[in-house]
Amino acid sequence: MLQLRPNCECCNTDLPPESNEALICSFECTFCRSCAEGVLGGRCPNCGGELVARPRRPPDKLSKYPASTNRVIKEQGCASTAT
Ligand SMILES: [Zn+2]
Ligand SMILES: [Zn+2]
Repeated sequence: MLQLRPNCECCNTDLPPESNEALICSFECTFCRSCAEGVLGGRCPNCGGELVARPRRPPDKLSKYPASTNRVIKEQGCASTAT
């Protein structure tokens, strides 16, 4: 089951489970669309994998299977790691 992390690892913007701005890699590193398509160029900076749109969980399922509230953030941000 997806964790549905609540924020972008790069810029810490909120990415609620109903957002269509969230992209994830296969490890669920989570980024907003502007970071993913901008500084990251569609690649996860942690694992090098592709970033794809995160599917949204239906609201009635969210109450039983809530999204993660554990924020993950890259301390140094993403701009410094981009090549
Ligand atoms: Zn971002
Ligand atoms: Zn990754």
